[in-house]
Amino acid sequence: MEKPFAITLNVGSSLANLTGSWRTFRPVYLDRLPPCNHACPAGENIQGWLFHAEAGNYEAAWRELIRNNPMPAIMGRVCYHPCETNCNRRHVDEPVSIHAVERFLGDLAIRKGWQFEMPETLTGKRVLVIGAGPSGLSAAYHLRRLGHEVTIREAGPMAGGMMRFGIPKYRLPREVLDAEVQRILEMGVDLALNTKCVDLLTTMKEGKFDAAFLAVGAHIGKRAYIPAGDSATILDAVSLLRSLEGEGQPMLGRRVVVYGGGNTAIDAARTAKRLGATEAIIVYRRTREKMPAHDFEVEEALQEGVMIKWLSTIKQADQGELMVEKMVLDEKGFPQPTGEFETLEADSLVLALGQDVDMSLLHKVPGLEFDNGMVKVDSSMMTTYPGIFAGGDMVPSERTATVAIGHGKQAARNIDAWLRGTKHVPPEPHELASIDKINTWYYSDAPKMVQPALDVVRRQSTFEEVVGGLNESNALFEARRCMSCGNCFECDNCYGVCPDNAVIKLGPGKRFEFNYDYCKGCGICVAECPCGAIKMVPENT
Ligand SMILES: Cc1cc2nc3c(=O)[nH]c(=O)nc-3n(C[C@H](O)[C@H](O)[C@H](O)COP(=O)(O)OP(=O)(O)OC[C@H]3O[C@@H](n4cnc5c(N)ncnc54)[C@H](O)[C@@H]3O)c2cc1C
Ligand code: SF4
Ligand code: SF4
Ligand code: SF4
Repeated sequence: MEKPFAITLNVGSSLANLTGSWRTFRPVYLDRLPPCNHACPAGENIQGWLFHAEAGNYEAAWRELIRNNPMPAIMGRVCYHPCETNCNRRHVDEPVSIHAVERFLGDLAIRKGWQFEMPETLTGKRVLVIGAGPSGLSAAYHLRRLGHEVTIREAGPMAGGMMRFGIPKYRLPREVLDAEVQRILEMGVDLALNTKCVDLLTTMKEGKFDAAFLAVGAHIGKRAYIPAGDSATILDAVSLLRSLEGEGQPMLGRRVVVYGGGNTAIDAARTAKRLGATEAIIVYRRTREKMPAHDFEVEEALQEGVMIKWLSTIKQADQGELMVEKMVLDEKGFPQPTGEFETLEADSLVLALGQDVDMSLLHKVPGLEFDNGMVKVDSSMMTTYPGIFAGGDMVPSERTATVAIGHGKQAARNIDAWLRGTKHVPPEPHELASIDKINTWYYSDAPKMVQPALDVVRRQSTFEEVVGGLNESNALFEARRCMSCGNCFECDNCYGVCPDNAVIKLGPGKRFEFNYDYCKGCGICVAECPCGAIKMVPENT
């Protein structure tokens, strides 16, 4: 039928509207970097693996994830998830629970027995890794993927580093740790346990290694000078936590005081409770706001009955009691003594004041540079001695398992390039998909899925895992909350709204392209793209 008064475009009727040369801006498709990806210390392509998970394609999601991080079941449990702190969805309702989906994929991979791919070609180069903590394991995995022969020398009786001898079982069950470590070893990584390296250059020479990655961590508990009577029981938190992996359980007594304000102090106090202490008290010299421990861990500890004494320092330790001085914060936020003292009953005192690095294996390596007890590395993770790289807790950086994993990956890529006589050039970073690029109103409300938690009574007396995982339907729902920031998810909006039919659909998974002969540069596609995957650029660029 004729349309007498109004001109209505049927699909395809605009094909004759060749634009001519008057357009000053044109749209281009691009991939922007989502803020979650940008914030992950392991460099995970989170948006990329969530995209597969959203479609229920879990193995593809896991395979995308492990390109950067070989331990998702572990990281989904212990990582402090800076990805979520930066997730754009927090401006809509709550961040995507990325760690929970990561954990779901990691656990599923263990259940299904998914394996890593073996290297396609072998280079014949031999790399020595010192330390089987997260950094050493990550480096070994990435080096192996790149085709190198890898040997790990580990001083301890089991692999895992602080993931085994620091992080308690109630946060990281050992069967999960064992499964993800074993999968790395099955790629053909050689692991020598109970083999402490005492002289790096000799070990490298004897083993004919072409390069080395050092990841010995920081294991020497710092001591504060506290005058103590002979019979006072004082131990450091790391030794306490490590002893739980052995046969005998440490004797702490009924009243345990932990001195410090970091996550290790929280773990030591929560562990003391589980070992039967009726009172576990953390003494910290500043306030809760200034405490380095993460808020959720403080909260979990308080739920379990751990007590915290703020603005207090320990002045003297004697059998059965401690002398504690009250502090006040000065105008700069530093604690200052008040001269007011009180007595605190304590059967044992656990010091959680941080750890130093044991550098003794490096004593014969000439020309190394150090910074505050840690070895200095450049942006390629190489020390000042050519061919010796280092990462994790022993280099100046944030001390987390995820940062350690990221260092291992970065070092592996640079070691690979160094062995080939080239330089690893990381890809140019994409521009950030900040929240102003996202049309949040396109996304429907979807409350965050909550992970189940063990009841508090069981938490106080057992080492059972406290936080549970998401089931499949909740993990799928959570993955679908992702807004795919900066990356086209083929919603067809641009295709549908273009008044000039200048958008060409290339088919499932292939996205779209513009037909610039018909685009007049109106920018409607940019305005209506939910996730900021199109931008306008000046015509002459
Ligand atoms: C109690 C506690 C709880 C923590 N909780 C968390 C958490 O929840 N989330 C998080 O992200 N991070 C956490 N961390 C920090 C995290 O565990 C560390 O940052 C991380 O393990 C560092 O990894 P790494 O590989 O550098 O060193 P490590 O994990 O310390 O591993 C170093 C390995 O090297 C071995 N080694 C040392 N010297 C030698 C030698 N000379 N020869 C051979 N082997 C050697 C050691 O035996 C060890 O196995 C926690 C730390 C502690 C202490
Ligand atoms: S490793 Fe940590 S920061 Fe990276 S995706 Fe997992 S939870 Fe997020
Ligand atoms: S919404 Fe998705 S892509 Fe965007 S920041 Fe969050 S997890 Fe990343
Ligand atoms: S509008 Fe939809 S289909 Fe078009 S680029 Fe954006 S996400 Fe992709």
